Amino acid sequence: MASQPCDGCGKQVPVAGGVANLWTLEKDTTGGIELELVDGTDQFLCYDCIERLPDDEEITADHVDRL
Ligand SMILES: [Zn+2]
Repeated sequence: MASQPCDGCGKQVPVAGGVANLWTLEKDTTGGIELELVDGTDQFLCYDCIERLPDDEEITADHVDRL
């Protein structure tokens, strides 16, 4: 299984690898998702970090830096 470092906490997060798995349900094996922020950047975050992000604000790279 592939892994990718979380942009918030730096933890290695398992990700479902390969194009073949892209459209299948891999929630059990993927520990994070790629978020596109309002400033246009992409950040890969684990679910722990996603839960710590405010849900009443638009998420920017500053939020990710403060995780
Ligand atoms: Zn994280």
